[in-house]
Amino acid sequence: MNTQPIELFKSKRPVIVSGPCSAETEEQTLETCRRVAATGKVDILRAGIWKPRTRPNSFEGVGTEGLKWMKKAKEETGLLTSVEVANFNHVFEALKAEIDILWIGARTTVNPFSVQEIANALEGTNAIVFVKNPINPDIELWTGALERLNKAGITKLGMIHRGFAQHGSSIYRNEPRWQLAVEMKLRFPGIPMLCDPSHIAGNRELIRPISQQALDMNYEGLMIESHIDPDNAWSDKKQQVTPDALGDMLDHFTIRRPSVPDAELNEKLNRLRRQIDMVDDELIELLGKRMKIAEDIGEVKKEKGVTILQTNRWEEIIEKTSAKGNMQGLSERFMIRYLNAIHQESIDHQNEVMNQADMEQK
Ligand code: PEP
Ligand code: MN
Repeated sequence: MNTQPIELFKSKRPVIVSGPCSAETEEQTLETCRRVAATGKVDILRAGIWKPRTRPNSFEGVGTEGLKWMKKAKEETGLLTSVEVANFNHVFEALKAEIDILWIGARTTVNPFSVQEIANALEGTNAIVFVKNPINPDIELWTGALERLNKAGITKLGMIHRGFAQHGSSIYRNEPRWQLAVEMKLRFPGIPMLCDPSHIAGNRELIRPISQQALDMNYEGLMIESHIDPDNAWSDKKQQVTPDALGDMLDHFTIRRPSVPDAELNEKLNRLRRQIDMVDDELIELLGKRMKIAEDIGEVKKEKGVTILQTNRWEEIIEKTSAKGNMQGLSERFMIRYLNAIHQESIDHQNEVMNQADMEQK
């Protein structure tokens, strides 16, 4: 991909985007933006003008009128502005109102038709566009959206990691699944990655630790929702923070550097990394051994005509191994994911053994 660095990201780290989930009234938008700007730590203002809502009858945004408020906020504060766009008309109106940065929301990134429509609308402009991860954990869709924009000549791109929808209960509104964002960063090292802790968390309390984790993972920026009166916000009230709380948070983050020219520290790190490499080698060897045993079990089951899946046995393994994992300081979330991955691989190996045996008999 032919991308270009975005000026602001060259000189500031982390870049901070903040403002309300939705522009509700002129007063609420301007006052939030003024107070957010007064923290002295925010670079880009945000507000949702058109709101994609899961259920009908929720507030669906003020529409183009809100763009005027963002323009005023920009004139008053001198900060850049950003809004979400989801179709051709949004792009047309936002560019006309001189919004500096457009972002594509999670519900739009999933739909290649919509992304293509936005890319077509942007063709021939010099727009800066951030792309949020799709709702579902499919980084090909995220990649595809960046590619469609790039093919339309958009070279100043950013990625926003806002977490992924999941089934079942979780402490998060959207599971972070950090590894997926890391994979995107490896694919596109030249494109800045921002974290949106507000939509990952879904509540105020988790915004700070999620942001710190993103900074520790070397993200280039944060997008945090803020509101002058979060409890009475017209959308996402639980996850918005006051400009004061935002300022306090931004004052207290620890900013770490990716590396330092310190020979002693680097030597220490190298030693620990060699240890990790050795443990990884052992783990892979052990996993290989485990799968060979699974194949032997497959042979025995095949001989006796027994099914691969035996839920009692598997439940017993989960219980026993999770408890052991717990004693080693491994979280239950991790243990379940780990065991499920092992189980799937084990079933695949047994399956292969059984089918192979079948073929040989024929
Ligand atoms: C938003 O930023 O307000 C928003 C709708 O986010 P997402 O697309 O991540 O759900
Ligand atoms: Mn929101």
